[in-house]
Amino acid sequence: MSKVKSSETVKVVIRCRPLNRKEEAAAAGVTRTPGGVGGIVEMDMRLGQVVLWNPHGPPGEPRKTFTFDSVYDPSSKQRDLYDETVRPLIDSVLDGFNGTIFAYGQTGTGKTYTMQGVWLEPERRGVIPNAFEHVFTQISRSSADRQYLVRASYLEIYREEIRDLLDPNMHAPHVPNVHTHTHHTLELRESPESGVYVRDLTSCVCKSVKEIQELMNLGNQVRSVGATDMNEHSSRSHTLFLITVECSLPGPDGRQHIRVGRLNLVDLAGSERQAKTGVHGERLKEAAKINLSLSALGNVISALADGRSGHVPYRDSKLTRLLQDSLGGNAKTVMVATLGPAPQHYEETLTTLRYANRAKNIQNQPRVNEDPKDALLREFQKEIAWLRAQLSHREGRGKHRKEEGEEGWDGEGDEEVEKERTLQEGRLEEEKEAIREDGSLLAEEKQRLLGEKERMMGDLKKEWDATEQLTAKYKAMESKLLVGGKNIMDHTNEQQKTLEIRRQEIAEQSRREREIQQQVMVQDEETLELKETFSSLQQEVEAKTKKLKKLYAKLQCVKAEIQDVNDEHVRSRQELEQTQNQLTRELKFKFLIIENFIPLEEKNKIMNRLTFDPEEDQWKFTPLVPAESQFSQMKKRPASAVGYKRPISQYARVSLAMGAHSRYRAENIMFLELDMTHPTTVSLDHRPSEVGPNYSPYPTDNVPHRERAARVRMSRSWCQTPRAITSSTSTVSLATHSTATPTAAQ
Ligand code: ADP
Ligand code: MG
Repeated sequence: MSKVKSSETVKVVIRCRPLNRKEEAAAAGVTRTPGGVGGIVEMDMRLGQVVLWNPHGPPGEPRKTFTFDSVYDPSSKQRDLYDETVRPLIDSVLDGFNGTIFAYGQTGTGKTYTMQGVWLEPERRGVIPNAFEHVFTQISRSSADRQYLVRASYLEIYREEIRDLLDPNMHAPHVPNVHTHTHHTLELRESPESGVYVRDLTSCVCKSVKEIQELMNLGNQVRSVGATDMNEHSSRSHTLFLITVECSLPGPDGRQHIRVGRLNLVDLAGSERQAKTGVHGERLKEAAKINLSLSALGNVISALADGRSGHVPYRDSKLTRLLQDSLGGNAKTVMVATLGPAPQHYEETLTTLRYANRAKNIQNQPRVNEDPKDALLREFQKEIAWLRAQLSHREGRGKHRKEEGEEGWDGEGDEEVEKERTLQEGRLEEEKEAIREDGSLLAEEKQRLLGEKERMMGDLKKEWDATEQLTAKYKAMESKLLVGGKNIMDHTNEQQKTLEIRRQEIAEQSRREREIQQQVMVQDEETLELKETFSSLQQEVEAKTKKLKKLYAKLQCVKAEIQDVNDEHVRSRQELEQTQNQLTRELKFKFLIIENFIPLEEKNKIMNRLTFDPEEDQWKFTPLVPAESQFSQMKKRPASAVGYKRPISQYARVSLAMGAHSRYRAENIMFLELDMTHPTTVSLDHRPSEVGPNYSPYPTDNVPHRERAARVRMSRSWCQTPRAITSSTSTVSLATHSTATPTAAQ
């Protein structure tokens, strides 16, 4: 599988955004500082250096200097970053390497601007749109013996849950708030072939820049629909746009080989410290989860940069597992760390620079992914070949084939196929006509022959329809494959192409220049001593004093650095302790409730059903019934003896069968209401004679007639609006029912 095996470091570049209006206003009247008025960052693009100035520090405090692969100051253009840093990476992806670009930095420093930029303005388009353009342009310029298949996926990690932003269900209009749909969270899986991947992630085949842009828009819409506060949400979630480019090309052995390059475009959550102190319960858990991925990423980077610790904690978070290959594995990786120049963010800026500085030391082992088993392109090619064979077989069966078309189905000439079809149909029609006209045939014979022709016609039609379907499928599949220089038109003219090449050359040159400069700088320091020959003692003392001063300054820097790192360590430790205390307190609270309010046997029942899922990092209930027998054991809703949903009187059944009034569709037999008659009280000393001959324990005349009748009466049909039923109608209806039933039943 591997072809080119080598080791290279993660490329780290720094980008500083300009001061925004608010910061500029705040800086008005401030004397000039590095990075312009009010800024604290100074950049040397030629050397690839960032100098940071502490606005709160004592006047003599040395500035902090960091060196990176390249740095981009506030005046730099999107195009500069792309041509110099990203372009070589995308080219590698097209050659079958894995590539990753991730933007890291505090919220509001330009991560999204760098990755996406402003789509509608070509000058301000970010890495992602430029990469789309680049991929498809390169395909259009490649040789015709190459076939490509480009796929894209888009996902988001929010609170340690993975969400598929291209999930077709998410785009259904009836989903009001996708983030409440917990079943949309996806799981991570690992396979020896393709490493860590997201199970059931939607992946869409793209044929052009437009299509892939539409996908991105669709995903972005889902993000904003789900988030109540988009700003808040985007600064707390990580997004990953994944492009897979599969390319089949003839190898030296004459056979077709497939290379698969995967490109991860990652826009991370804001790296600022989430306040964990002073929040409780759900909010605490949320705060802990938000930064989990980022702190896990930091730990992974530290472990890798350190190189000594054998264990790299990839499994600590979803993000680090997804980026496992990109950090210390089979990928070429670029990290863009973004900064803001405002003094109030000094601490965060310094943290970002330190983070980035550490990442420089990570060694990756990128290699070309050749002929992986799970290449989709291979499947496509097989399917297409099969369809082709089917079609040419069908064509071969056609009676009137042109001789020259023997070598197989050419997949073209829609009109010809259509012509052939009308021709055959016309012939059959003619034959039918001839039979009809033929006076020498008996009527019976004529009928039989006509029937036969009719059947032939039917068969022919079926055959053609099947072929049509196959052709449609074939075309759909083939259109998804991009052939080098064929499917996409390259609209750039020669002049533009030359310009592009020039620009790339310049970018390449300045990159090399910077590398050499950096090397020279390092060497200078080492060889200074060797070169120096001193003519006098005095000179020697002077030179050595100078050197001593320089080294002393350096020592101070390192000491300050150590102090800083220690402080940071102490701070994060304190925070962790605080979090732990809060969690312990909460745990005690929960225990108290459980001990005092939940009966022991209930608690045990629950405890026995709980199992821990290490993959999901969660406790789960084992279902009471095993999953597979769940359906078979589910009780069916009871039906009435004759199979209706509810009991229906015989009369209603008959009416239903006869299509009578809808009133009897589902008639309940009886409707019982509370008897609300006034209690009849008769004083005990009343003798019957005094009460009179009409006495009965139930009052008759003094109680309204209708209440009596309502005690037992036919219920109203469920579909009728309730209305007052007069005594006469209810008694009548009772009577008519009892008499009508037997007659209707007959
Ligand atoms: P993040 O994604 O890191 O939170 P954004 O990319 O949303 O930050 O940037 C915040 C603001 O700063 C946006 O309005 C963006 O247009 C602006 N911005 C960021 N970087 C630059 C830059 N290099 N040049 C000009 N404007 C920038
Ligand atoms: Mg952003």
